[in-house]
Amino acid sequence: MPLSSTTAVLRHARKHGYAVAAFNVHTLEMLQAVVDAAIESDAPLILQTTVGTVQHLGADYIAAAAEVAASRTRLPIGLHLDHCTDYNVVVRCIRAGYTSVMIDASMHPYEENVERTARVISVAAAVGVNVEAELGKVGGVEDDIVVDARDALLADPEECVSFVARTGVDTLAPAIGTAHGIYKGDPNIDFDRIARIAGSVDVPLVLHGGSGIPPDQVRRAVALGMAKMNIATELRIAFSDAIKRVFEERPGENDPRKYMVPAKEAVKRLALEKIALCGCAGRGGEAV
Ligand SMILES: [Zn+2]
Repeated sequence: MPLSSTTAVLRHARKHGYAVAAFNVHTLEMLQAVVDAAIESDAPLILQTTVGTVQHLGADYIAAAAEVAASRTRLPIGLHLDHCTDYNVVVRCIRAGYTSVMIDASMHPYEENVERTARVISVAAAVGVNVEAELGKVGGVEDDIVVDARDALLADPEECVSFVARTGVDTLAPAIGTAHGIYKGDPNIDFDRIARIAGSVDVPLVLHGGSGIPPDQVRRAVALGMAKMNIATELRIAFSDAIKRVFEERPGENDPRKYMVPAKEAVKRLALEKIALCGCAGRGGEAV
């Protein structure tokens, strides 16, 4: 199949109470590893890259590799641009073949977030590309922030309703207490807020900061309406640790295949786990 828009699979996921795993990949091996895991699990898949990775590899190289992966399977595979603040990069990635983009204007005041998101949607909708936007601030939510300040960083359910209505955004990432990176303690997820937001808007919701959330908390968030879970940091660690282990054992190793193969296997193992946790295993044939 060609690369799929993520809209249909995420709506299916929201409707049926599971989430699609979205993996941030930085190398061809990481991309292949998560695709292998999706195929083995019969799961829909979202490949995603940050703007930094687009600059590092090139949107055209990434899209070409993702298209080859999609062409080899009947599973729906989407290619998503994660946390982009730059309209021009969004357009460049859409032209390269990305089927989904996140415009992150959450650092701007609400009205500007609406305007910037709507501008991207006017371009993306014309070519069937999914648009994700963020409300509240996912990063920087720390446990030691006082309640009122923490509350101000999290997405307001009423604002979510007006944001979706005014922008027409396809998928929404509301800040609900997760953070990027690896948590020092347990994440402080506001499940009540997820429930209120999910009860107010029917678009699929996106769980950012998926690395290291305890499995029972992921299942709870997914059951409440989180239809996409982003996994970035844990995947990078699995990849890098496997390479480090090879060099600890054999410092003189100079054949890239000898360290890339174990790294790829480590990424695949983790991806299999995350796909199972999201509940999207076995859903590959349903969502299209
Ligand atoms: Zn994120």
